[in-house]
Amino acid sequence: MNIEQFYPLFLRSNNVTIDSRKIQKDDIFFAFSGESFNAATLAEKAVEEGALAVIVEQKDFENEDKNIFYVPSTLQFLQDLAMHHRSQLRIPVIGLTGSNGKTTTKELIHAVLSETFNVQYTLGNLNNHIGVPLTVLSIRPEHEIAVIEMGANHQKEIELLCTISRPDYGYITNFGKAHLEGFGGFEGVIKGKSELYDYLKNHNQTILVNENDAIQIEKTEGYEPKITFGKESSKYNFGLFSKEHCVGLVYQGVEMLSKLTGEYNFTNLCAAASLGLHFGVDIEKIKHAIENYTPTNMRSQIVKKEDKTLVLDTYNANPSSMAASLRNFITFEGSKTIIIGDMLELGEESAGEHESILQLAGELGFNEIITVGKNFKNINSSAISFESTDELIEYLKQNKIQSHNVLLKASRGISLEKAAEFI
Ligand code: ATP
Ligand code: MG
Repeated sequence: MNIEQFYPLFLRSNNVTIDSRKIQKDDIFFAFSGESFNAATLAEKAVEEGALAVIVEQKDFENEDKNIFYVPSTLQFLQDLAMHHRSQLRIPVIGLTGSNGKTTTKELIHAVLSETFNVQYTLGNLNNHIGVPLTVLSIRPEHEIAVIEMGANHQKEIELLCTISRPDYGYITNFGKAHLEGFGGFEGVIKGKSELYDYLKNHNQTILVNENDAIQIEKTEGYEPKITFGKESSKYNFGLFSKEHCVGLVYQGVEMLSKLTGEYNFTNLCAAASLGLHFGVDIEKIKHAIENYTPTNMRSQIVKKEDKTLVLDTYNANPSSMAASLRNFITFEGSKTIIIGDMLELGEESAGEHESILQLAGELGFNEIITVGKNFKNINSSAISFESTDELIEYLKQNKIQSHNVLLKASRGISLEKAAEFI
């Protein structure tokens, strides 16, 4: 089965899915073998549920069925189909990567552009070698612009995702200390993320540049076309303000106050507003989008509880986002407790990075420091330390936190959000 032959069937389909629990009539189902399921059983079930077509690997399946297509590699077929579909699309595609803030920025761009256009965008965090093809395949004739998040934890990954999604516009949110293990240190992160710039440069596409980021400036120096923004930018020039812990931006006298906390979100907001301006979205509509956007669960979310303000930032953590979060939290008025959990996937630099964070926390001077996870626990400090979130919860049942403000931040694997209800 080749892609061109299969493509008309895709055009008739409703949706493409890899999740057998979500199959609906006229979907195309890609059967990937998992730990607890084999592809053959899944494929049969999909046909029963009315799938228009099922793609399955030859080795997994022997019975012939007219709805089932046998390919050497399900993954390769998914990526090739997405690539072919992309080549048929005539709408602007915006590609995003970076160490921190991709999902937030993607959602903000979606919010701003949706004021004027029908925008398709990465759902949730589907940003890898399977998620990006699925996102591309979800772009249908009614869509006018697409926003695609690309994640990576090693070299050459962004290059592949660019080949599949072929962005016309690209933005790297920032270069931070995330996934150091897979990338091979910070220099490796810069190289790996810059694969997006390499693609855009090779295809004369537009780069969005934050002029307050030295690495972005250096990497795009002399390149055109580009769209630039920042504080004191010559193109899209934004002022920063904040009110009740939320970040706002000012553009040509128009004030837009978001519901996001953390000065780092200023950049995310500016990126979205700049693309809005570039695509001709009216400034009042941009303001409307920014003022109404509420972050998805656990990303810099502010939760008011009786006498306390909680900052829930337990979706992920790495040295750069942890430092940014602590610097933001210290500006809160009143007493402050931080509950910080391990930052995972740091490889050899792990111990040093955890130590630096505890040192920064000490210097900033919080009223109380609580840590969760083995990495923090191994470091000698005055912090109260627990090995796991469950241990922390046992402690919280006996000891009420006294501070008015509490920050919770950790890598996803620590499940620190479970502790929120005990504060
Ligand atoms: P993932 O790699 O998991 O897809 P992401 O890049 O999509 O992450 P978000 O989910 O948008 O990032 O944000 C996760 C957290 O990163 C936020 O809650 C916040 O603490 C932090 N963060 C967001 N934007 C920035 C930024 N511009 N600079 C530093 N930290 C940021
Ligand atoms: Mg994300």
